[in-house]
Amino acid sequence: SKVFPNDKLLGGLLASGFDDRSCLSRYRSVKGLSGNPSPYLISRLRKYEALHKKCGPYTESYNKTVKDLNSGHLSESPDCKYVVWISFSGLGNRILTLASAFLYALLTNRVLLVDPGVDMVDLFCEPIPDVSWFLPPDFPLNSQFLSLNQKSDQCHGKMLKNKSVTNSKVPSSVYLHLAHDYDDEDKLFFCDEEQQFLQKVPWLMMKTDNYFIPSLFLMPSFDQELSNLFPNKDKVFHFIGRYLFHPTNKVWGFVSRYYQAYLANVDERVGIQIRVFDTRPGPFQHVFDQILACTLKENILPDIDKKHDNIGSLKNLKSKAVLMTSLNSGYFEKVRDMYWEYPTVTGEVIGVYQPSHEGYQQTEKQIHNQKAWAEMYLLSLTDVLVTSSWSTFGYVAQGLGGLKPYILYKPENETAPNPPCRRAMSMEPCFHAPPFYDCKAKRGTDTGALVPHVRHCEDMSWGLKVV
Ligand code: GDP
Repeated sequence: SKVFPNDKLLGGLLASGFDDRSCLSRYRSVKGLSGNPSPYLISRLRKYEALHKKCGPYTESYNKTVKDLNSGHLSESPDCKYVVWISFSGLGNRILTLASAFLYALLTNRVLLVDPGVDMVDLFCEPIPDVSWFLPPDFPLNSQFLSLNQKSDQCHGKMLKNKSVTNSKVPSSVYLHLAHDYDDEDKLFFCDEEQQFLQKVPWLMMKTDNYFIPSLFLMPSFDQELSNLFPNKDKVFHFIGRYLFHPTNKVWGFVSRYYQAYLANVDERVGIQIRVFDTRPGPFQHVFDQILACTLKENILPDIDKKHDNIGSLKNLKSKAVLMTSLNSGYFEKVRDMYWEYPTVTGEVIGVYQPSHEGYQQTEKQIHNQKAWAEMYLLSLTDVLVTSSWSTFGYVAQGLGGLKPYILYKPENETAPNPPCRRAMSMEPCFHAPPFYDCKAKRGTDTGALVPHVRHCEDMSWGLKVV
C-alpha cells in the first residue's frame, strides 16, 4: 500500500515552505492523488498565493479596502477584491462550500477570506503560505454575519428585486445568498451579466450550504478557464480539496492513530458511510438489509457460510478492514457480529470498525466536529467506498479520496430499494439546489442536459454534478 508517498507536495499541488510541525497532515498524505493536476492549475495556485500574500489580513491593501467598507462606497478602484465565506451549516456542507468559494475566487481574481466561526481554526490548518486565510476578529462586518439574509439591503437578490443594481454607484460590499432556500433573483448570480456587475464590488459576502461548482461550468465567462484548469473535469473537488483541507494536529492524531491501529496492515480497506435522514434514531432493519444487499451484489464484501464451520489455517489469510461511520452504532454491530459468528465463503478475514457513534448531529460542539472531520478523512483513505444518498459527509470522503463510490439509494417507505446501490459516474459532489434557468433566453431550462460534463446526480434527480 502507498503509505507515506515521498511526493510530499503532491505533484506540485501544495506549496513548499510551510513549517512541518505546525500541521503534520499537510506533507504526510497517506494517499497520493488520483491523477495529476494540470500545470496550469499549479501555476494559478502559485499566482493565487502571491495575491493572497499581497491582500491578506492586515496587509496595506487590506487595510485600505477595509476603510472603504466603513464608508460604504468606493474611494477609488481597490488593489484587492475579496470573497468572504461565512461559516454556515454542517461540516460536510462547509467543506464543499469552501471549495466552491475558493474556485470562484480563483476564477474572479479575488482573495478568499474565511469566517472562523466557532471551530474552523480547530479543524483546518492554514492552506496558504505566509498570510492567514481567516478573517481577523476586528473585521468590521463580523457582527453582521448571523443576521445577513435574503431580506438584507445588501443582498444581491434583493437589490435586483428593488432594481437598485446600477453600474454608476458600486457598493463596497454585497451579500450573496446562495443557500438552498435562495430564490430566482439570488440565482442570477449564475448569469454572466450579473458577474459583470459583481466584478466591481470589492467585498462579496457569501453564505451557502451548496457545492455550486457544477453551475460555474455552465457559465460562458468561466468555461474556457475551467477547461484549462481542469482538463479532467471530474477532479475539481479532488484537487481543490486536497489543496485546501489539511486536518489540524489534533484531528490528525485521531486520523493517524485510528489508521495505524485498524487500517494500515490489511490487504484491502472498505469504507461504508451510513447517513440516515430520518428523525427517529434507528437502527432500521431495511437500512441494514440494504447495506448487505449492496456490498454482496457488488462484491465489496464476501458472503458468509452458515453451513460449514470452516476453521482454516490461522496464517496468511487475506484480510479486509471495513471502516463504518454512522451516528448510530447498530449497523456496525450487526456487520461485525455477522463476520464473527460465521466464516466467509472466500476464507477472507473481515475486521469491522467504527470510530464513533455520536447519536445525533451536534454542530456546535468542538470535539464532535473534530471527530466528524477525522471520520470523513479516514473514509477517504479506503480503497472501496460505499456512501449514502444526499450526504455531503460522503461527498467529502469520496472527493478527497479520489474514489467513485457505490451510492446507497435513498430508502422510501421503510424498504431497501432495489437495486440497493449504484456506482457513481464520477468522484465529484452533487449540487443539491442548482438553478434551472437559461440566462440568455431568460427562461427555464434543464441545466442537466446542456453539456455532456454536467449531469443530474445519481442520488438526487434534480441535482447537478460534474462528470
Ligand atoms: P450531511 O448532513 O450528511 O450532508 O453532512 P454534514 O457534515 O453537512 O452534516 C452532518 C453532521 O452530522 C456532521 O457534520 C456531523 O456533525 C454529524 N454526522 C453525521 N454522520 C456522522 C458520522 O458518521 N460520524 C460523525 N462523527 N458525525 C456524523
